Amino acid sequence: MRRSLVMGNWKMNGSLAANQVLLEALLAKWQGVHKAEVAVAPVSLHLAQVGQLLSGSNIQLAAQDASAHASGAFTGEVAAAMLSELDCRYVIVGHSERRQYHAESSELVAKKAKAVLAEGMVPVVCVGETLSERDAGQTLAVISEQLSPVIALFGASLAQIVVAYEPVWAIGTGKTATPEQAQAVHAFIRDQLGAAGEQVRILYGGSVKPANAEALFAKTDIDGALVGGAALKADDFYAICRAA
Ligand code: 13P
Repeated sequence: MRRSLVMGNWKMNGSLAANQVLLEALLAKWQGVHKAEVAVAPVSLHLAQVGQLLSGSNIQLAAQDASAHASGAFTGEVAAAMLSELDCRYVIVGHSERRQYHAESSELVAKKAKAVLAEGMVPVVCVGETLSERDAGQTLAVISEQLSPVIALFGASLAQIVVAYEPVWAIGTGKTATPEQAQAVHAFIRDQLGAAGEQVRILYGGSVKPANAEALFAKTDIDGALVGGAALKADDFYAICRAA
């Protein structure tokens, strides 16, 4: 049985003051038993602060990216070991914004995922097609290309990853994939993962809101969400966590 997972990706938002306000508001609501596992991913500079604010709660710490390299002359990068030292449990890799604005290839994303796993954390590997790729009927081919280096590199440890399906056309646009569209791609991803597929949690991301979360989570192969904009509002993020 896969436990659902809701992760807030704060992207390049927040400040020391704003993080405190947001987490205090969230933790004030944080009562009772939660079915879903929950994590938040601030910018790496804020991980230590957010980790402290979350201590004693069952909300996990996540990072938005990690270097494929262990250490050395890589100005501006952050090594997986440094994230692990700050008690990160999850690390997002291959988000479409990194693929698009930082030209990250699927091979590099796979190496980053491996570096994360090697430090005892869980890589959250993002995949997803653009609107023009969807319109050209290439959705499944794109997903397959993005996943294949990960599948090749991970071998028997593939069951330890999380995959996030984030159609690029649904990110920050207010357009959500319908639960049926998302379910179809999630089922394809699970199939691509072979024997490990049944154990791997596959999250949906792209304009997830309290109003659409329940219908998405009701689908067999949707195991949770990677939430952008709505994760910056305590009420909305809490409602999504409760729906999972
Ligand atoms: P939005 O929820 O703002 O569409 O962002 C989704 C996302 O990219 C999460 O990683």
